[in-house]
Amino acid sequence: MKYTPQHAAPQDAPARQNIAPVVCYPNETLPSFDANFYDQVRDGAQLVESVLVPPRDAKTFVVPAGHLFRIVSVDGSQVGDLNLWHQNNLNERFYSGKTRALHGTHVSRSDRLWSSFPYLRPMATITKDTLDWYGWDEFGGSVHDVIGTRCDPYTHKLLSNDDYHYCCHSNLTRALAAAKRISLQEAESHVHDVLNVFMCTGFMPDTHQYFMKASPVRPGDFLEMFAEIDLLGCLSACPGGDCSSEHSSDGAACYPLLVEIYQPLDQRLEFWSSTKKNQYNQEHGV
Ligand SMILES: [Zn+2]
Repeated sequence: MKYTPQHAAPQDAPARQNIAPVVCYPNETLPSFDANFYDQVRDGAQLVESVLVPPRDAKTFVVPAGHLFRIVSVDGSQVGDLNLWHQNNLNERFYSGKTRALHGTHVSRSDRLWSSFPYLRPMATITKDTLDWYGWDEFGGSVHDVIGTRCDPYTHKLLSNDDYHYCCHSNLTRALAAAKRISLQEAESHVHDVLNVFMCTGFMPDTHQYFMKASPVRPGDFLEMFAEIDLLGCLSACPGGDCSSEHSSDGAACYPLLVEIYQPLDQRLEFWSSTKKNQYNQEHGV
């Protein structure tokens, strides 16, 4: 939101405002999406693990590099908040801001989920999205955003002066602490901005405030990704349910989410290799 202007527009204001924008990060030089590879790798892949995430809770899961994983809607319309780390290095985490800068506000098939500095490499590639038909609605909304952060008890306290313990931030913290056998405090420092799976969001046309609306996801829908590196994932079934009205409370109908991990046939990965850490030399001008 912008405060009511206190300064008169200069004479050349229209000229300054009418300059056409340019894309900040033209991404033609990024590694291209090899549709044949990602489609064929699914053929014959075996389901090797399923993890059910209860409503208003989170679970971790491991996806070895070269495996596929799906986040599946079951029982009812439900959104999920996803964190990703390198399986053996919590310092390498999903970087929602850079993913947004490279691919846009909402992601789908062919987009990558990038990791934090100094790694900055694709952690996962989105290979299938059963909600890709949704596109952009008349409000400018779409699904699977990297603009929201995650619902959290601190913002809720600020806005409502209430303590609520089952926001996605707390769910992710509890699940990571249990999986890594570390304190809540340590786990919390590793929780980061999420991929909002199935969530339908955008910006209000007038104030540009972040909005949410009922997710179009239905049981059976899924978002599928290919792990480009060994991954530790953590998924929270948001207390907002389909996020049609509220979050950070027990007021919304909530449903579980299912994570499925698939192992491809060996021959499908014959010419594939895991992504390498970013090659910048880290001298920073010294
Ligand atoms: Zn949430």
